[in-house]
Amino acid sequence: MRVAVINSGSSSLKFKLFNMDTQEVLYTLVVENIGEKNSKIKTHQEALESLDIDFLYVDIIGHRVVHGGEYFHEATIIDEKVIEKIEDLIPLAPLHNTANLKGIMVARQKAPDALQVAVFDTAFHAQMPQEGYLYALPYEMYEKHKIRKYGFHGTSHSYLLKECAILLKKETKELNIITLHLGNGASACAIQNGISIDTSMGFTPLEGLVMGTRSGDIDPAVVLYMQRDLGLSVNEIDEMLNKKSGLLGICNSGDIRKILQSDDEKSKLAINMMVRRVKKYIGAYLALLGRVDAIVFSGGIGENSAYIRDRVMDNNLAKGTPVLVIKTDEELEIARQCLKF
Ligand code: ADP
Repeated sequence: MRVAVINSGSSSLKFKLFNMDTQEVLYTLVVENIGEKNSKIKTHQEALESLDIDFLYVDIIGHRVVHGGEYFHEATIIDEKVIEKIEDLIPLAPLHNTANLKGIMVARQKAPDALQVAVFDTAFHAQMPQEGYLYALPYEMYEKHKIRKYGFHGTSHSYLLKECAILLKKETKELNIITLHLGNGASACAIQNGISIDTSMGFTPLEGLVMGTRSGDIDPAVVLYMQRDLGLSVNEIDEMLNKKSGLLGICNSGDIRKILQSDDEKSKLAINMMVRRVKKYIGAYLALLGRVDAIVFSGGIGENSAYIRDRVMDNNLAKGTPVLVIKTDEELEIARQCLKF
């Protein structure tokens, strides 16, 4: 069984082909800067055309789709109706879902005989209890406008749960764990009996931890102040919170590797802020879960930086709880989820 995975971003396309009988990667392609000035590849179509494989031999194509809203609770075969629903969800994730749809459209043309499957970043969090996903706003904001916590990085948290179960020799449904996906984007997840009951990202991936360029949690009144008193536009604030904040906003670099090499006071401050936020989420999730079987670190930072892991876990935080480092593999998880079809 050959399963291709496509992660289509606004200016990038990542492609991996698996032989799922052996879980071997047969082919990988990463195209970046699509459509940019000096780039040879102008469209997602051209990016897929540049693949040196015969799509006749691809059985299933799994697409990463960022926002599944309340419609999609699991991997879903893509048909016209599903495409319409993903389009309906564009206002909730304008850049992401639009780019994901491009990938889907191009793949359908290129491989008309392959089964196309959408795997949603939000789906793993779909069973969060209402007291966990609601914001304490007037209830109609949820009922009419679907404003709620959705959570993201679900494919990664789900993969980490399954790998953790293998390592601990338990069933996923027996496990209470805290998973920390710490990359450029970062999120924490509280998993109880194999189900995500809380996660740090929210209505969008902006909420929660201090990330490479995203602020994570701030008082929403700050946004009002910036609009009302500083005269910043909605777009300027959006850009600031998503692209100019987080580690980058504090110390001019969003790259932990570089920040760790610097002696600059602002670099130390940025690390302290990031570590403190992760600790706060772990503390909150320990309180929510009661019993915790493991704390799992993953993502570029979580997998590679023993220093950050030690800083997060100092003060005997969660004493006696196993701390695991697991390399995440979102593409393999997407391919595995496609196999049920
Ligand atoms: P993305 O969210 O873009 O997939 P990654 O999971 O690749 O991001 O994580 C990127 C982050 O991981 C960067 O901050 C980078 O500095 C950090 N990182 C990668 N390797 C190391 C390392 N050896 N030590 C510390 N940080 C690292």
